[in-house]
Amino acid sequence: MQNWMRALAAHYECIRTRNPRDALLIVFDIDGTIFDMRYLLLYLLHSYDCHHNTRYFVDLTLEGLTIHETRLPRLLHRRGIGADESERIEEFYRRHRWSSKALLEAHRPYRGVMEIIRWFQMQPRTQVALNSGRPEGLRLATLRSLNALGEEYRIRFRSDLLHLNPDPAGRNVAGAKVEGIRAFCAAGYRVIAVVDNEPANLAAITGSNPGAEILPLHANTLFESKRMLSPQGTVRGHSYDITALMTGRRLPRHVQFVWGGIDTERELQRFLASEVHWAECTVRRNPLNGALYARQAALPVTAAPLHERALELPRLLDSLRKRRRRLRLDLCAQPELLDATLELLRGQGPAKPDCWFAATMDGLRASGFKRLANDFTDAIIECRADFLAPLVAAAPERARGLIAMLQDWGVNRFGVAWSTPHKSRLLDLMDRCAADVHITGVPDLQAFLQTSLLQPRSIGSTFDFQLWQPNAARHRPSLAMPVSRTGG
Ligand SMILES: [Mg+2]
Repeated sequence: MQNWMRALAAHYECIRTRNPRDALLIVFDIDGTIFDMRYLLLYLLHSYDCHHNTRYFVDLTLEGLTIHETRLPRLLHRRGIGADESERIEEFYRRHRWSSKALLEAHRPYRGVMEIIRWFQMQPRTQVALNSGRPEGLRLATLRSLNALGEEYRIRFRSDLLHLNPDPAGRNVAGAKVEGIRAFCAAGYRVIAVVDNEPANLAAITGSNPGAEILPLHANTLFESKRMLSPQGTVRGHSYDITALMTGRRLPRHVQFVWGGIDTERELQRFLASEVHWAECTVRRNPLNGALYARQAALPVTAAPLHERALELPRLLDSLRKRRRRLRLDLCAQPELLDATLELLRGQGPAKPDCWFAATMDGLRASGFKRLANDFTDAIIECRADFLAPLVAAAPERARGLIAMLQDWGVNRFGVAWSTPHKSRLLDLMDRCAADVHITGVPDLQAFLQTSLLQPRSIGSTFDFQLWQPNAARHRPSLAMPVSRTGG
């Protein structure tokens, strides 16, 4: 069966090639398409128990919910709940399903869907619109809850790209969806694809827009209308797989990739066989012979290398210089090695590889950073900035002041661990301060693609994963990385 996200990507490229100047629009339904409605149902049923001191749903789990929310009476009947009590539960569900609390607490997006939306929002002259059967009165609450969830992905949903049902009772959803598409077209967009979990909505939209080249995508989650209503050409899927959409050539183009943790000859050869330009190592001193060598950051400072395996820094620098690669030298763990490192680099003469120095604020202090900025005018000078993340929420002006101070010291890159919370908020602030961010320690493919979509200036990973399968892109199969297009 055709992968629906791959079909969407191919359709998007085809329409874009034929209409290079048009404003393209991908339209998503919300409930059952972006949001997994089982969370809401489970939340409200557990709330009912809590408010009424009952235990009807104490053993009910997410996996146990296999019905569309409109079939709630069937679920209640199956659980042996009497007619009167069922009526009260349904009334509770109807009263609270669109409450602000439920919208904010019980709406969870399907895995991967936010990344798909973010990717399209990043494409030139391309927008994502929402076309929902929710009543118009829920506009503010809908935008508030979606933007709260979207913040982590740097997604913004706009009111002018949200169409809701004008009927306060939420009837005639298919008609409202057709009206939504008409409104988006009237606003100057070319609608190229519609994602909805109800085949009847897809049929109504394509039926009223014949020849419009709108690709219907059926989110095969839980749905009410009959599948046979799906219009011809519908592609169907239930998992939003960003790897199907983002091939090597579709990665954000200005992001630099850094191959982390090079500390053995084998790892060096793996790196050299890839198309990544930047290598990364942590600088350590070998207690066995006093030489500087490359080591993984995770190992303790006192750990001695097995002598025959130690990758000495001169050997690494020489290999990189010959292959025109670049090196990020991490001095966070042992800033006292700065002098010895600089001496080694100067000994390499003008032919040494381009370097990037990473350190902590307390490790190098103002004098160390200023010295690097003065002696290596073209270098990337990074200061770890994880400590700023909580400040961005609690005291943004203080964070802004610290960023300015570090920039004054010569820092031109801010390192943030992948595991740091509120990364996207920090990235937003860094953008406003014209400060470049390096995300380090990205563990796997999913995290790598998510991080790419946040658009930091650079990403560090050990690349212990295969990015794309052979022939999926024009890159080599073992590690299909894009060639840096920025010289970085
Ligand atoms: Mg829906």
